Amino acid sequence: MNWIIREARILTPEGEIEGDAWIKEGRWTSIGRVPSRAKGFTYLARGAYLLPGLIDTHVHFREPGLTAKGNFYTESRAAIAGGVTTVFDMPNTFPPTTTIARWQAKFSAVQNRSWTNFSLYFGATAENLSEIYQLDPRWVPGVKIFLASSTGELLLTDERIVKKLLQESPVRLIFHSEKESVIQSSFALWGGYDWKEVPDLHTKVRPIQACVESTGWLLEEARKGSVPFHILHISTEMEVEMLRARPPWVSAETCPSYLQWNANDFSRYRNYLKCNPSLKYASDQEALWNGLVEGILEVVGTDHAPHLLSEKLLPYSQAPSGIPSQGYLLPWLWTLGEQRGLPVSFWIEKMVYAPARLWRLRDRGPIREGYWADAVVFRPESETYIPSNGSPLHYSKCQWSPLEGESLRGQVVSVWVNGELCFCDGQFLGSPNGMAVELE
Ligand SMILES: [Zn+2]
Repeated sequence: MNWIIREARILTPEGEIEGDAWIKEGRWTSIGRVPSRAKGFTYLARGAYLLPGLIDTHVHFREPGLTAKGNFYTESRAAIAGGVTTVFDMPNTFPPTTTIARWQAKFSAVQNRSWTNFSLYFGATAENLSEIYQLDPRWVPGVKIFLASSTGELLLTDERIVKKLLQESPVRLIFHSEKESVIQSSFALWGGYDWKEVPDLHTKVRPIQACVESTGWLLEEARKGSVPFHILHISTEMEVEMLRARPPWVSAETCPSYLQWNANDFSRYRNYLKCNPSLKYASDQEALWNGLVEGILEVVGTDHAPHLLSEKLLPYSQAPSGIPSQGYLLPWLWTLGEQRGLPVSFWIEKMVYAPARLWRLRDRGPIREGYWADAVVFRPESETYIPSNGSPLHYSKCQWSPLEGESLRGQVVSVWVNGELCFCDGQFLGSPNGMAVELE
């Protein structure tokens, strides 16, 4: 279907344009002014923003094997409702995505069931180097390396293999950067306690030092190779400082959860905010904001990691780590940034332009003639209400969010994926239209 979107504030890499846009055969055909011969359905934006759809390079959609928590159909739908049109999914599933055969099986299973465009990471183990060397950089966005344990069994603490990959990987390396041995000794000290006794318990079990030692080591090793790599979920002030001097082939991310909350919030939320790396302290949180503004952290990824509410209600030591972060993303970011005077274009840089540039997405990302039309109509002055936990009104399968009951500023009104209108005024339209993302 072709579309003519009229009277929009169109955000392009060159700046904001007030006018119309024409989507023809899935792609942006005219931006700003539409020729009189243009044909298509008319969508009246009435002064709302027309933004490029967000690209979330860090999600856990739990497929295969953990589908009680979420699956590609449900979680990609939740992503759409928050203004996300492309996701990169992590490999720590059951079984983990650690062989090419499993990667291909996952790829086939996701085809035609993803509402968003998608790309699938590969997982590194101590045994699968030969498979990593065969990965196709056109379709595999990266190899995920867990230097410390989290959900699932993927863990690679063998420094020799990590060093080898830093020299030889055919695709970008994606690091969960915490030092397992530091966590083990902290756990021995603190793991037997409960929230009632230690208000910042999870930050004690997974301390600042675990992140700092690991990221420090990685940055030192980075200088010996030139394989591009990306450090996920930066959570500490010291890492932001260390990243100032990183080589140009290293990039870094933080997540909305670390921007919204810090260890002081555990007293209210407890396991709801248990995630890895742990939330740190107020000074770390401030440093993350500064790192984003200064461009030291160039990407925001959600680390959307759904778990069942019943799992989160278990005692501390049994509750899994991870926070569902899809469903309300663009209003959430907008609300967080508005309090700091940040324009909507700030988030488009962090969640569209930077990922499109770093991963070299083919014909995807910004609103640009010839590119795929992944787009969001967003009303900054409207509100988005987050339902209470357990409500079927939540988009994510796990049906809860630490944001329950809050009102966020801004509303995702409509979303197009590959030129098809798939979400409008709270309703999903048609069937999943996501495509595999091609990398250059
Ligand atoms: Zn993650």
